Amino acid sequence: MENWKDQMKNMVDNLERLKQYINVTPDEEEAINTLNTKWGTTPHMASLMDKDDPNCPIRMQAIPSLKETKNEFGLDNYLVWKENRDTEEKRPDCIARQYVDRIAFTVTDICANYCRHCFRKELVVDKNLELRFDLEEGIDWIREHEEIRDVLVTGGDPLLLSDDRIDHLLKSLRSIDHVEMIRFGSRVPIAMPQRITPELLEVLGGDHEVPVWLNTQCNHPKELTPRTRKAVYDLLTAGVNVGNQMVLLKGINDDVETFRHLHQKLLQYRIRPYYVFYCEPAPGIDHFRTRAELIRDGLRGHTTGLAQPMYVCATNIGKIPLMPDYYCVDKNDKEYTFRNHRWQTTTMPVIKD
Ligand SMILES: *Cc1c(COP(=O)(O)O)cnc(C)c1O
Ligand code: SF4
Repeated sequence: MENWKDQMKNMVDNLERLKQYINVTPDEEEAINTLNTKWGTTPHMASLMDKDDPNCPIRMQAIPSLKETKNEFGLDNYLVWKENRDTEEKRPDCIARQYVDRIAFTVTDICANYCRHCFRKELVVDKNLELRFDLEEGIDWIREHEEIRDVLVTGGDPLLLSDDRIDHLLKSLRSIDHVEMIRFGSRVPIAMPQRITPELLEVLGGDHEVPVWLNTQCNHPKELTPRTRKAVYDLLTAGVNVGNQMVLLKGINDDVETFRHLHQKLLQYRIRPYYVFYCEPAPGIDHFRTRAELIRDGLRGHTTGLAQPMYVCATNIGKIPLMPDYYCVDKNDKEYTFRNHRWQTTTMPVIKD
């Protein structure tokens, strides 16, 4: 099924279709039948599911679970808080702001994979927050705010818009003098690499003064297939940089082996690890949330420097690095003492101003 429109038409979003790919467990079936939630994934992703293992990382990310009804730590109206929607500055629905110089521009609530751990669950999956996705309103707002130099186009999945809409969006943003760069956050290279067509590359690519960067979301090495490798290669060849934003997910990628394997494989696929996100306190995703020192134990010093993402917690005041400072174990007037991944120590002189 190489045509992405066929992938969308055949979305695996009912039991009958899901049963063509896996042996659905009674728990999965009950969750699908009783939870009032949007779910579904592409035939491409469904074909990566383990037929018999309900703990398959692809299954856990796509199939609803009864655990979603338990909510101890999730915050109500999470997105309104997180995206500063209830503040004095009046902005269009599609503009989320935490920083002076850059904004998130939400253009749709449709996705190729309705991730069960989505922090935008209220908007995308549960549909109890409705926003107006008015591209023109967003573009006008950006035009009027000269301090905005970086526009992060997000959703939902912005690459599910038609080529024409994306082309119009890019042309409009590029016509604004103060916009220096455009970023897309899209799971499409992973969930539906067939979307990266020559026509779309024509729209996204090329040598422009205002470049397009893309961050995808890959959470497990199983998601990296030859089809995705080709999509990434095509994006890079067209001039679009590709990075990754992983979400730290309990039972999916929170062990050293999987975590390191994922980051090494991302580089093999030419995808640069950018962020690892602490799973946010959005409602109904408690069962995914976990803490782990995986960068210390699995990456820093243990593998290629390019494989190192930054571990962050995304909040209403921006992304907060969660990198512990265990590297610097001591400091006095004269010197710092640093420790590495093998627990060896060394010292460096403290420079006096
Ligand atoms: C994540 C995010 C950004 C971009 O953050 P970077 O650290 O620059 O990648 C900008 N605005 C909002 C509202 C965001 O959530
Ligand atoms: S692709 Fe992104 S926006 Fe869509 S459900 Fe997954 S995490 Fe949420």
